[in-house]
Amino acid sequence: MLEAFVDLFLPPRCGGCGALGALYCAGCRRRTRRLEEPTCGRCGAEVEHARASCGCKARIRSLTRLRSAAAYEGPVEKALHRFKYEGRRPLRRPLALLLAERLAVEGLAAEAVTWVPLHPARKRRRGYNQAELLGRELARLCGLPALAGLVRLRDTPPQVGLDRLRRQANVAGAFHWEGPELGRRSLVLVDDVATTGATLDACAAALKAAGAGPVIGFTVARVKL
Ligand SMILES: [Zn+2]
Ligand SMILES: [Zn+2]
Repeated sequence: MLEAFVDLFLPPRCGGCGALGALYCAGCRRRTRRLEEPTCGRCGAEVEHARASCGCKARIRSLTRLRSAAAYEGPVEKALHRFKYEGRRPLRRPLALLLAERLAVEGLAAEAVTWVPLHPARKRRRGYNQAELLGRELARLCGLPALAGLVRLRDTPPQVGLDRLRRQANVAGAFHWEGPELGRRSLVLVDDVATTGATLDACAAALKAAGAGPVIGFTVARVKL
């Protein structure tokens, strides 16, 4: 309600550079660095050579693939920060558009969209789950059903500063599916940012355990390891 009111009476401000006029201006769209080939076939990270293995096989176990639209830098990093920590919910629209464009470029198909959940206590504090807003917007853009149902059982400490193995241990078994019957459906699993993919992989394990088909992890941005 309040968001709709503000949208109506104030000109939008760019989440990347702060300029008035658009939620994510043409200049910032141009400066958004899309991930470039060659990328790892499994985890989607940029690699030096097309045949180079990025060493992700041990940690990406349940996800069929992991893909991201852009590198976590420049205007998209700023916009994601404002979206997540400054309550700029309307930024879900240009950010989900980056996701939808990448989905089309990669030629990825899925039957439904879901997202990485926040622990209820954290969601109460923030007022919303940024991954849910992105997932629902992407589902709308693609004409797919949005499936709620992943539950975070533990409020895991932030992944920042943990190495790969600790990240994996930190989130293992932290998620559970309590949504509708998945019936082998293929899913796109949305989050805002991926680093090692440990959180997305732990979510995919819960989705698989609940009967999901292939699960594609999908984020707006990727932190370079
Ligand atoms: Zn801008
Ligand atoms: Zn990889």
